[in-house]
Amino acid sequence: MELKFLGASGTVTGSSYLLTANKTKVLIDFGMFQGTSAEEELNFRPFSFNPKEVDALFLTHAHLDHCGRLPLLVKNGFSGPIFATTATRELAEIVMFDSAKIAEYENFYEPMYTDSDVVDTLALFKLVSFHEQVVFRNLLVEYFNAGHILGAASIKFTNKTSGKSVIFSGDIGSYPDPLVPYTEFIDSADWVVMESTYGGKIHPTSDPVTEFARFLVEADRGKRTLLIPAFAIQKTQVLLEMISAMKRQGVVSADLPVYLDSPMAFDVTKIYMDHKDEISTSNFSFPGLVFTAKGGQSKKIHKQKGAKVIIAGSGMMNGGRILSHAKKYLNQKRTMLLFVGYQAEETLGREIKEGAERVFIDGKEIFVNAQIDAIETLSSHADQPRLINWLKQIKNVEEVFLTHGEDEARIPLALNIRRETEVGEVNLPVLDEEVVLVE
Ligand SMILES: [Zn+2]
Repeated sequence: MELKFLGASGTVTGSSYLLTANKTKVLIDFGMFQGTSAEEELNFRPFSFNPKEVDALFLTHAHLDHCGRLPLLVKNGFSGPIFATTATRELAEIVMFDSAKIAEYENFYEPMYTDSDVVDTLALFKLVSFHEQVVFRNLLVEYFNAGHILGAASIKFTNKTSGKSVIFSGDIGSYPDPLVPYTEFIDSADWVVMESTYGGKIHPTSDPVTEFARFLVEADRGKRTLLIPAFAIQKTQVLLEMISAMKRQGVVSADLPVYLDSPMAFDVTKIYMDHKDEISTSNFSFPGLVFTAKGGQSKKIHKQKGAKVIIAGSGMMNGGRILSHAKKYLNQKRTMLLFVGYQAEETLGREIKEGAERVFIDGKEIFVNAQIDAIETLSSHADQPRLINWLKQIKNVEEVFLTHGEDEARIPLALNIRRETEVGEVNLPVLDEEVVLVE
């Protein structure tokens, strides 16, 4: 068996691996590179393999950095099945169409792919249930719940001829998660490819509900505007669920207006509600919740006086409707801007979070007079102790490959894996590295 690292090797995005077992070639994920312009350029580099020779693709989950370049793969000749859970397929549909729209808008010459490539990609999906024994040629494949977002999986491949097996962790949730099931542990494998996004961190133990309530109560009582740049998948649903509970318990006024100003987040929320049996709660609706479908309605929010909460994408403020709200409210002292997730380098969110006194939005200079805060406890990625605990449950691991993390995260993780586990070897692969697992 051979393994090639096609992305997320020393960085967080662009997840993709090529696994060759005898004559069978399969890809695991084919995600978008995101973040700095140098990373984004990797999206346009020539393929280092022939997409026509790949027999199948196994998708771990629907985040853009895992599924974002599937239509590009199909556009370049891949025509095999794409295996995914039902929820992943539904979420990936939204994510890929959204990405096609942005690509068409941003790319002056030729977009990376179009709607019709997304349609072709969706036609290749084959649905898999967790724990179903999928046989693909000489591989036995099993999906385990990764507890990260709805539908997210870790995938184990066993070579039927040799009996040797390799696990791809996908993204591992920060178990227990407020919405999705507890991350599943897997009993054994010879090799593990593990994410390391927060491999260098220990998440704070403070209660996110208490932390978030502070800002909501302040907006409500102080008649202030609370702006939340939110990620459409999972984080928005967690916020809605928390607000719903606070309204039911009378922590904030029942009539406090909450605007969900993101059509994508609205569509994703509907999918979460369609999969009620896979999540712990689906109380995402409450009095005072207003969904603004059209851009014009979004502007009307600015006429609303007094207390209000605006949840709008994108989560890192590098696009989306949050920008029009930032233009309107960022220079006002009465505004609170609350970050609830990771802010990548070279994004407006990162700039503001790091204390910029003025920023430029669509060429307009805006002074940052708003109160800037962040909640660090809403992560949907496992921290170092959780990653190591997940790995420890897997018996007989000969070698672990740490991916999907920057070196400052995976180096300390590697040290502690060597110290605390019985794993034979820890490897930090670089982009395009090829390893022979077994002859
Ligand atoms: Zn993810």
